Amino acid sequence: EFNNAAGQGDGPASTDDALYRTLVERLGADRLSSDASVRDAHASDWSDAPRVAPAWIVMPRSPQEVAAALDCVRSFGGHVVVQGGMTGLAGGATPREGEIALSLARLDAIEAFDEAGGTVTVQAGVPLATLQQYVEAAGWFFPLDLGARGSCQIGGNAATNAGGNRVVRFGTMREQVLGLEVALPDGTLLSMMNRVQKNTTGIDLKQLFIGAEGTLGIIVRLVLKLVPALERSSTALCAMRDFEQATRLLKRLRAGLPGLSSFELMWQDFTDAAAQLTGARAPFDTRYPLYALIETLNADDDSAVLERVLTRALEDEIVADAVVAQSLEHARQLWQYREAVGELLAALKPHAAFDVGLPMEKMASFVANMRATLAARYPDSTHLFFGHLGDGNLHLLSGPYRDAATLHDVETCVYRAVARAGGCISGEHGIGVLKTPYLPLSRSAGELATMRALKALFDPQRVLNVGRILDA
Ligand code: FAD
Repeated sequence: EFNNAAGQGDGPASTDDALYRTLVERLGADRLSSDASVRDAHASDWSDAPRVAPAWIVMPRSPQEVAAALDCVRSFGGHVVVQGGMTGLAGGATPREGEIALSLARLDAIEAFDEAGGTVTVQAGVPLATLQQYVEAAGWFFPLDLGARGSCQIGGNAATNAGGNRVVRFGTMREQVLGLEVALPDGTLLSMMNRVQKNTTGIDLKQLFIGAEGTLGIIVRLVLKLVPALERSSTALCAMRDFEQATRLLKRLRAGLPGLSSFELMWQDFTDAAAQLTGARAPFDTRYPLYALIETLNADDDSAVLERVLTRALEDEIVADAVVAQSLEHARQLWQYREAVGELLAALKPHAAFDVGLPMEKMASFVANMRATLAARYPDSTHLFFGHLGDGNLHLLSGPYRDAATLHDVETCVYRAVARAGGCISGEHGIGVLKTPYLPLSRSAGELATMRALKALFDPQRVLNVGRILDA
């Protein structure tokens, strides 16, 4: 799968290059590829950022090799793009012209498991689903979960501070990480492999790298916090007549169901499109403006409690209709609308995919105004609203848009409205390359200057992920 045949992809892939030869000497020939098909496979993440084949791909097998590769590239004045599972939606892992892709795919060892303390030590390239299955088999649970679980890597999840379906209960990736090891652009390994929950020994440096999207260093190892196995889950789908009902229901569930782990909101246009695409039946006989997908996770069965809370919510006219899953298969069917997002993303390409954060009291008016504005301006495109309501994260999938100028107009329109509402332009997918022009709408001049100062401190020669988060 991995060889050194001269590349035939777009742009030259010269293996005569002195840097290439030095990397081969330091790491071994089987750690590099300039093969056209391999370069093509590394030309883009899941976003609509234009595909660019990297000059070559480096696939180190250990943290030390990652550090050595960085040291080498820096000393030759080269540029590296870090690639995890390449499921990012902000173009961060998509190469820019001339960049060398450094893939973490071979750093895939689960190194240690601490049964007593409930922690696991992993390398950055372990896919999220592999980690979830590993700890579940040992009677523990790793709470981060998202649709791309089969391909995204735990290092990529930390680099993007991924959120996902269970943030309402467990928080984002930031809250799951106890320790990190990072390869810095100067070729050193910065070890912060803390394993204890409470640690107040000065500045929490690891947090600088979580959510930094690979701009300050490459995450190579992580210590993750686990929770005891939560084997029982209950799932329900509720229909609501308006957004106020949704917020009242969320409050009820938070008070009455300590196991509440997901509260996914889907507007009618989203569920209609998801049902049409997947061939699923409509969730209820009547169509409603809003649907909430609810999940609880517990050691014991709490479906009776969920049913009681929902019965009262029906009596109090907080929900218009509700169905509680009666089996695992039924739960899977209820989730299929929300899980259709991957297919919808593909179907609406080239699209604008937004994941904005909004104050809860602005959410309903924002959606109503945006739906009307976008429908009027771009009647030929589809606009779908959904989100992780429990944490104020709203997704909007809008497309297709065939030309870049229109796409830019749509983005400007949405991001300006987000700024006016006091929100942020990314709740979880990050800034990558696609959102750098809009970052000043979400962060102050002082914050941007501090980010630039940190970049200059860790990466003065601008080796790593240049042009991500901050403009090139
Ligand atoms: P990549 O795409 O490879 O990289 C993402 C960024 O991190 C890039 O800038 C890259 O350079 C950098 N990077 C990657 N690995 C490292 C590393 N080891 N060290 C330093 N930098 C690194 N995201 C959510 O938050 N919530 C969701 O619910 C969600 N759902 C999704 C559903 C689908 C179907 C898809 C396709 C994506 C979804 N995403 C979601 C986005 C994506 O899965 C996440 O951003 C994920 O965390 C990216 O991980 P990755 O390994 O694929 O990273």
